[in-house]
Amino acid sequence: MLICCPHCHRKNRLEPARLDANPTCGACKQALFTGQPLSLSSTTFAKHASADLPMVIDFWASWCGPCQQFAPVFAKAATAFEPRARLAKVDTEAAPDLAARFAIRSIPTLLILHRGQEVARLNGAVPPQEFARWLDTHLPAIT
Ligand SMILES: [Zn+2]
Repeated sequence: MLICCPHCHRKNRLEPARLDANPTCGACKQALFTGQPLSLSSTTFAKHASADLPMVIDFWASWCGPCQQFAPVFAKAATAFEPRARLAKVDTEAAPDLAARFAIRSIPTLLILHRGQEVARLNGAVPPQEFARWLDTHLPAIT
């Protein structure tokens, strides 16, 4: 499978069985998983969305109160759900093209993408257990 490095954004080819073995990037030698949400711009988003790892995206904005409340929930989920998925954040003010492309009408909006296709969507800040249950239900299996 192809995994995009969170540091240099190069694609790495990896056997799915090696996901749990703390894989590192062949180009920049840094860890492919950091346990932290990854902030994506329009440019880096395209690279990650075309890789094989399911992505969970938090569309947010700095002025949005519920987004601030949800941020620590999302950060904890990154620790819990990597390497089953890449958890990423898109600032809707910095990347209005992405907000338009995914028809984001309220924030926060949580989206699961797999190989660029939308798998599931959740509107609004939800409690941690509900968010974890939603991820368990909708995250595609890694093949
Ligand atoms: Zn790298």
